Amino acid sequence: MDRDRILLTPGPLTTTLRTKLAMLKDWGSWDADFIAVTTGLRQSLLDIVHGHDTHVLVPLQGSGTFSVEAAVATLVPKTGHVLVPDNGAYCKRAGKLSQMMGRKATMLPCPEEAPISVAAVEAALQADASITHVILIHCETGTGVENPLAEVAALCERHGKGLIVDAMSSFAALPIDARRVRFDALVAASGKCLEGVPGMGFVFIRKAVLDGCAGNSQSLAMDLHDQHVYMDKTGQWRFTPPTHVVVALAEAVKQFVEQGGQSARLARYADNCRTLVDGMAAMGFRPLLKPEVQAPIIVTFHAPAHPDYDFKRFYAGAKQRGFILYPGKLTQIETFRVGCIGAIGRNEMAQAVQAVADTLKEMGIADGTPAL
Ligand SMILES: *Cc1c(COP(=O)(O)O)cnc(C)c1O
Repeated sequence: MDRDRILLTPGPLTTTLRTKLAMLKDWGSWDADFIAVTTGLRQSLLDIVHGHDTHVLVPLQGSGTFSVEAAVATLVPKTGHVLVPDNGAYCKRAGKLSQMMGRKATMLPCPEEAPISVAAVEAALQADASITHVILIHCETGTGVENPLAEVAALCERHGKGLIVDAMSSFAALPIDARRVRFDALVAASGKCLEGVPGMGFVFIRKAVLDGCAGNSQSLAMDLHDQHVYMDKTGQWRFTPPTHVVVALAEAVKQFVEQGGQSARLARYADNCRTLVDGMAAMGFRPLLKPEVQAPIIVTFHAPAHPDYDFKRFYAGAKQRGFILYPGKLTQIETFRVGCIGAIGRNEMAQAVQAVADTLKEMGIADGTPAL
């Protein structure tokens, strides 16, 4: 098969030919042409959240987690204390990286199939005055559930706490408006809903807290304050930038704007998600989440109850038909995940559903009905 397989994964994901072609050129990192690309990209990312008055945009090399780690290192003082409402794998990762950097971290366990409870966050803040920051995962990609960003932001503002948002899998698809929702840092990356290629993250940092971040980071490479100061002064990245990733992202953002921006992207992903869920339901598959808490980013499905079901074989069958699925990330129940994001639309989702149907048939499984 000479066509690229469709990635139904939450990053890396399927990109357009135009985005791929943008990478066929070498750039000098100190050169004015590349500096102009970086500067333009930073502006266009600020446009997306309407953040020009309130925030700066600091890019960072590496996968998304590098930027989450950098945001915590830069924003939270060494004596700080983070609260992490926990309804999934990415929440646990944020807690772990905070702890490993020597920040005190308190996890607030919440059920995985529902958004985190705002009332529970408030009670935790009231119970422990030493908490300085809340880390919120906007869309918990482990299950696909959307967490209540605006409500948690308002709560943090009311209690005078900092807020760090991991908006990795939601940014550019779900609405985020910095004029209405107050956050100290919001983290996203190149290879998710902007449909760039993986390799860089970026963090919006609130101008009002930026100066106070000097000297917080225990890491040289992860210091976003330093990265910002250097970039503002020189236009350059402090250390070797992922040049091809940066130009590909700039090209991807141009297409994002041409296609109608965040609302158009949300509409396309919501349509992808509906096409997927309806098609799968017709085969008996059941999503883990109730529709009202499901973000149109990634859908977790229960595994079929049939004794011949095996994820490895199921995956191989779908792959042979041109679609890359994603394993589940729940510890208790057997599941698999299907992404709705990337440069794909209704046709690709319908073809994916057909590929799943053909794979089931090949495996001798009558339908996808789960056990419970
Ligand atoms: C993708 C993702 C990340 C970053 O993961 P990397 O593998 O480091 O790119 C972090 N948080 C969430 C919610 C994500 O979806």
